[in-house]
Amino acid sequence: MAAPAAAPRIVIENCAIATVDATDTEYASGHVVVAGNRIESVGAGKAPENLENVVRRVDGTGHLATPGLVNTHHHFYQWITRGLATDHNLFNWLVALYPTWARIDEPMAYSAAQGSLAMMARGGVTTAMDHHYVYPKGSGDLSGAIIRAAAEMGVRFTLARGSMDRSEKDGGLPPDFAVETLEGALAATEETIDKHHDASFDAMTQVAVAPCSPFSVSTELLKQGAQLARRKGVRLHTHGSETVEEEKFCHELFGMGPTDYFESTGWLGEDVWMAHCVHMNDSDIEAFARTRTGVAHCPSSNARLAAGIARVPDMLAAGVPVGLGVDGTASNESGELHTELRNALLINRLNPAHREHALNARQALRLGTYGGAQVLGRAGQIGSLEPGKLADVVLWKLDTLAHASIADPVTALVFGAAAPVTLSFVNGRPVVENSRLLHADEDAIARSTRAEAQRLARIAAQDTP
Ligand SMILES: [Zn+2]
Repeated sequence: MAAPAAAPRIVIENCAIATVDATDTEYASGHVVVAGNRIESVGAGKAPENLENVVRRVDGTGHLATPGLVNTHHHFYQWITRGLATDHNLFNWLVALYPTWARIDEPMAYSAAQGSLAMMARGGVTTAMDHHYVYPKGSGDLSGAIIRAAAEMGVRFTLARGSMDRSEKDGGLPPDFAVETLEGALAATEETIDKHHDASFDAMTQVAVAPCSPFSVSTELLKQGAQLARRKGVRLHTHGSETVEEEKFCHELFGMGPTDYFESTGWLGEDVWMAHCVHMNDSDIEAFARTRTGVAHCPSSNARLAAGIARVPDMLAAGVPVGLGVDGTASNESGELHTELRNALLINRLNPAHREHALNARQALRLGTYGGAQVLGRAGQIGSLEPGKLADVVLWKLDTLAHASIADPVTALVFGAAAPVTLSFVNGRPVVENSRLLHADEDAIARSTRAEAQRLARIAAQDTP
């Protein structure tokens, strides 16, 4: 699918390139040519001469070009509840925060989405996702507000339309007032798909069906959610095997572990990706590999909540598709994905069982790019720098104090400090230039997110009996 000859071209030259293609092709000094919204060519040395309609030439000296980062798990609304319950484990943290979260409204969701998106885009994310599952009655069009924020920022986006219908009275974790009904959740999810999901090759907005977790969702919502997703041809997403408490909950309520429970409800398959997957035994990993079920690995969040260390090297060895996730910023206050490359690598090396085949820098970069594209079902379109793919490209600045003396650019990017982004393109359009967002005012977002965080805290405090 070559771009038409008249498409405007952007030529990037003189940079190191990590393509993250099937054989990890790299160039010490090479070029990337973008034509329209597609990558036209990638290779060693200078770009071909006599290209027509070149609208911009970028001298990438001192930089590394990679595919844009792909985030596969997040909860944008948590941007305005950062820094709370900082010493809790998952279940206690959730119980502490649900009453506040259940008071969010549309302006809060919009502002929090802007904050989350701005932080990620500035750090090289070109495809974002939001697993949003808190829809209080009368709170407005939260999904529409989140999608609007992503479109304005200029990033590619998947909204995982979440839901909860298992509250305390049904043995679940969320309070009764924080959940939807089964019918209401399914109808609203279907409406969101019909209104916003774009199945085309260059889609900027996609929607997935995403009931929240086994301990906040009924078995029926999982089953009917899977049926809805397959009827509509969209992907399925949820949290799975995050903590020992969840494992215990599943055994007590369903008489089986999380992976078997997911399989019994139709939730293993190549159209499914699941966040965390920390507590997986060999047969769980084998089931994910057999069914091509994807994993969103969230190392910082797992560390913050003391959930454990996911067996990523074992998953990769078994052939499980694995991407990276920031997770919600109430459990990962930094909200950045480029630092997760480093954290994924370091945290996995802490597990003595993994030491022999620990992750390396190239694998970490692959998790954050191609692996993410795989779990979002978009590996044919994004996640590597190859001719014909969509032009989601990041140029990392590696010639300053932080990185200039590190031997190799991919090692510098993954092992080193968070690298600044000189330029990022999404769909061939610049989104970041010299570490600044081109389509959003970072300082205005900082002010509005602070105001919305304070407004939410006030409302939550008034509601507390
Ligand atoms: Zn999460």
